[in-house]
Amino acid sequence: MMNRRKRNGQAGLLWPALVLCLMLICWPLAGCSAGSGKAHAAGGEEAVGDGMAMTDKEWKEKLTSEQYRVLREKGTERPFSGQYNKFNEDGTYLCAACGQELFSSATKYDSGSGWPAFYDAAGDNAVDEHEDRTLGMVRTEVTCSRCGGHLGHVFADGPEPTGMRYCINSVSLDFQPAGGAAPDTTAHSGEETVVLGAGCFWCTEAAFELIDGVTAVDVGYMGGTAEEADYRTVCSGQTGHAEVARVTYDPKRVSFQRILDLFFVIHDPTTLNRQGADVGPQYRSVIFYSTEAQKAAAEKAIATLDEKLADPVVTQVVPAETYYIAEDYHQDYFRKNPQQAYCQAVIKPKLKKIEDMI
Ligand code: FE
Repeated sequence: MMNRRKRNGQAGLLWPALVLCLMLICWPLAGCSAGSGKAHAAGGEEAVGDGMAMTDKEWKEKLTSEQYRVLREKGTERPFSGQYNKFNEDGTYLCAACGQELFSSATKYDSGSGWPAFYDAAGDNAVDEHEDRTLGMVRTEVTCSRCGGHLGHVFADGPEPTGMRYCINSVSLDFQPAGGAAPDTTAHSGEETVVLGAGCFWCTEAAFELIDGVTAVDVGYMGGTAEEADYRTVCSGQTGHAEVARVTYDPKRVSFQRILDLFFVIHDPTTLNRQGADVGPQYRSVIFYSTEAQKAAAEKAIATLDEKLADPVVTQVVPAETYYIAEDYHQDYFRKNPQQAYCQAVIKPKLKKIEDMI
């Protein structure tokens, strides 16, 4: 009897707990993106599904505590609490963790769920989808394809033309107004980003990946008049876009001056629209700055270099514009294809110069 009373006593405590659990489980069924609470990369040296190879500690330093909870631990912001739920400006939504373009305002609509909703992602490669069997349901989780950050879930109850509803946490997003400058997606942590054109972007990326204090590098296109960018059209020279590397760095660990020094070592800033055998405006020397301090430092560095070199420096210094991330096979090209002839003949000697400087 003692045992039964004891069990009954436990059951008396268990039932309210079970009811509470059921309430917690049922709440997100009406909404969209309640997370599992299971850490995405808790405690790991390298985050799971993380193309940026940042440690858990580095993510905590980069993100606010709420962003870390949602993006890295698959959490969910409270419904109707996010800044982009009732928000209808024209522009582009970027990943708050890495700056990748994720959604266009043209696909945003009010689903009434309390979270921002989109009927499509920005391009085929912006987001990844994964089966999520947490909370006793089968749902489809949506993550940033670049950094692996948790964004929300996608459901097949959206409007035409896709019939899909991407239900996304505001806290996972940054916003770039149409025609406006790219937001400082590194503001969360104090990191800064500069976009550099120095000829073939495979070279530029490989060089900056060697630098301590550079926390992320990827390659893409910037600076043209075309509203789309892919390798084939950029190579035609008709889009006006340059091949560029987007370099994110921690100013506490590496100065912008050092970034500039390396930039001018890995290419010839005196050849207009040309780097060696690579000819065309897509190979131009250009610095797309994101802060006034970067602009001033770049202009000063060019003036100093100009006095030293026999030929005039033709490097452009212009504000950062829309960044079009390049196709997957261009990312980490040197690391994935070290034996390829161009990598051996062109990239490897440039990396040797950088290694001698380090
Ligand atoms: Fe991301």
